[in-house]
Amino acid sequence: MANLPHCDFVPSKYEGPSKEEVQKLRGEYLTPALMTYYKDPIMIVDGHMQYLFDETGKRYLDSIAGIVTISAGHCHPRVMKAVNEQNSRLQHTTTIYLHPNIATFAEKLTSTLPDGLDVVYFTNSGSEANDLAILMARAYTKNYDVIALRNAYHGGSQGAMGLTAHSNWKYSVPHGFGILHAATPNRYRGHFGYDDPESGEKYAQDVQDLIQRGSSGGIAGFIAEPIQGVGGIIEMPPNYLQDAYKYVRGAGGICIADEVQTGFGRTGENFWGFENNNVIPDMVVMAKGIGNGCPLGAVVTTKEIAQSMTEAIHFNTFGGNPVSCAQGLASLEVILEDDMQGNAKRLGNKLIGGLDDLQAKFECIGDVRGKGLMVGIELIEDKDKTPATKLTNDILETCKDMGLLVGKGGFYGNVLRITPPMCLTEEDIDFMLEVLDEVFAKETK
Ligand code: PMP
Repeated sequence: MANLPHCDFVPSKYEGPSKEEVQKLRGEYLTPALMTYYKDPIMIVDGHMQYLFDETGKRYLDSIAGIVTISAGHCHPRVMKAVNEQNSRLQHTTTIYLHPNIATFAEKLTSTLPDGLDVVYFTNSGSEANDLAILMARAYTKNYDVIALRNAYHGGSQGAMGLTAHSNWKYSVPHGFGILHAATPNRYRGHFGYDDPESGEKYAQDVQDLIQRGSSGGIAGFIAEPIQGVGGIIEMPPNYLQDAYKYVRGAGGICIADEVQTGFGRTGENFWGFENNNVIPDMVVMAKGIGNGCPLGAVVTTKEIAQSMTEAIHFNTFGGNPVSCAQGLASLEVILEDDMQGNAKRLGNKLIGGLDDLQAKFECIGDVRGKGLMVGIELIEDKDKTPATKLTNDILETCKDMGLLVGKGGFYGNVLRITPPMCLTEEDIDFMLEVLDEVFAKETK
């Protein structure tokens, strides 16, 4: 049986309400729309770097990172020092007064992006950031239609839900006016497969077709995740974004990269997901990993596009809050100083290599894909690629029992998602692969 790598951290004794009491309170006082993982949900009360601890002190390797949000590590000491200092000095004023944190963080953040992407708007979440991105695209271009991709997830606010294209996350209410959805460039399940070297160009034709035959001909923008996260780790094929961006700009639109999951070095090869696709967007949307666990989002764009927002005052009470910015800045410094991007690349390659070996061993592994520490394993029942949704849940459960927390995604919930904090080590990857090997053997015998 695989053993978790050694860890010196000892969590404090938990003295709060029992798990059963918490479950009861949650059932009574919280929305029934909340979901939990596992038949017997776990309660997590401590976190240290790549590890989580339940109320009994049981340790888990976190391979979900709070849905791709813990970038530098849970309660990373350097991040905590900065945020605790800020917390005890000043928590909130809004942007009506000057404060150094918002300004220094904006400068540091833009230094990671190509020249031209120099103006930052801070928000509190990815949904808010996407709403703002679409508002800006429309204000700047004076066009209305926006193209997003099917199978995308861009958030759950009224506006962002319109961009999202998964019935699982959409309510039957009016939302997201003027949003058109182009085909998902999914090479595992779509019309053009991995064996087609021109799949990217072919999928991008659908964007052009939508502009010409589905819109007024002039569009405000195009938004895409460089790797669809919630949608099940769907990478954009080579040349797809290049062609799509060309068509969009030809129709007067701006190009928006939703880097909420792919940013901050997670994909290893580059700091930003769009860089893996050889494109430069006009606007970049960030959240999750930017704050390493605090409510923080941002839209970064050009000075020219940002100017369009001066027609009215745009105000966000908590956007750019001194505490969130202290946390964002410290997280970014840690990610850069500790070369977490390099770690994501090295360990991501090792992980994907190990998963390829598992794919050769277990027929239920239909596809292994992703980049760096953003990896998906699509599980199937047969040669027709029937989604193995139940098996995915069983694997998730057994991994948890063995101390490994894994995520899931994809429309059918049949894609295991591995997106750990980027501070994990080679020993953690060995553990992860050993657990998966044992669990696949057990669940498929
Ligand atoms: N964009 C992407 C790519 C996401 O994955 C998410 C959240 N899963 C969002 C936007 C929305 O972010 P938030 O939940 O912070 O509103």
